[in-house]
Amino acid sequence: MSEERFAREFDAIAGLAAARRRVLVLGHVDPDGDCVGSMLALAHYLVGLGSEVVCFAPGDMADLYRELPLARLFASEERLASFEPDLVFALDSPTAARTANLIRRGDGVPVVNIDHHPTNERYGDINVVDESASAAAIIVYRLLARVAPGALTPETAGCLYVGVLMDTGGFRFRNTNAEALAAAARFVELGARPHELAHDFLYVKKLSSLKLLSLSLASLEVRGGGRIGVMHVSRRMLEEAGGAMSDTEGFVDYAASIDDVELAALFREVAPGEVRVSLRSRNDFNVAALAEAHGGGGHRNAAGLTVRAGLDEAKRLILRSFEEMLAGRPGGGGGA
Ligand code: 5GP
Ligand code: MN
Repeated sequence: MSEERFAREFDAIAGLAAARRRVLVLGHVDPDGDCVGSMLALAHYLVGLGSEVVCFAPGDMADLYRELPLARLFASEERLASFEPDLVFALDSPTAARTANLIRRGDGVPVVNIDHHPTNERYGDINVVDESASAAAIIVYRLLARVAPGALTPETAGCLYVGVLMDTGGFRFRNTNAEALAAAARFVELGARPHELAHDFLYVKKLSSLKLLSLSLASLEVRGGGRIGVMHVSRRMLEEAGGAMSDTEGFVDYAASIDDVELAALFREVAPGEVRVSLRSRNDFNVAALAEAHGGGGHRNAAGLTVRAGLDEAKRLILRSFEEMLAGRPGGGGGA
């Protein structure tokens, strides 16, 4: 069982955590639900050990994650700047660059890397990287279940549930496996409220986010004989809708959900000349490899990258790669 597989690492983490007092818990840029949920659950355990804990993820965090129990543990940049950790965790972050290189190496501060991305670069002193885990939250759950079951309170169970819920797309994606469903059931036994969390994190939308979605959907184009779907969010759309870039989580799924689409992309103009690209695929089309070829990464069917160019050029680059991926591969394959 995978729990056995990381037993040594988990015990080593517990040893480190018990001996350190100022712990920095980092997440990746523009943290998603899995990143935030797993950070907060881990932080709760560390606080319980009597440590001073600072949670930080660079970039934008969607407002709704600030409603999670324990979200008060997120610190400002000022607080981060003056914090001298003696232990650093990085969660859901395949590379040090994804944490904006906030992981300080070489100064004797141990780094623990907990992640489920196949592209993880093992940058930690302790690396718990398991691509069979549907979410980083699953790995944090295994850790706590082994070394600190008392830390699995209703609040941490809720945070972990949100992590699994968001990274499996509400238990729909290919990474939805027996362990994810069993862990979710356990989180409910521990006090997580599935209907409330599904309501708050999957169902409810801000009006500005829906306005932005309608503008973005108007940009949807289908190419490659129906097998490619692309859409974008420009700075102008943001201004028009009065929304924030962090309101666009899940937009790419609209392009990816079209019946015959096998390769989908969402292009977000995060700054002039800088475009964040979200890639999605069905079947065995590997968008992680495409993302990696351009300095990004992710999972086979969901990956991302940043292109230093305008929207049109970024689209041209990805469309060319998509068309190469489709070449010689007749369509009509099954679902995701
Ligand atoms: P999303 O499109 O939802 O932002 O990201 C899809 C997946 O790809 C996530 O698992 C995310 O962590 C990963 N990912 C997105 N952007 C990057 C990137 O720039 N670098 C790496 N290494 N992974 C990324
Ligand atoms: Mn994740």
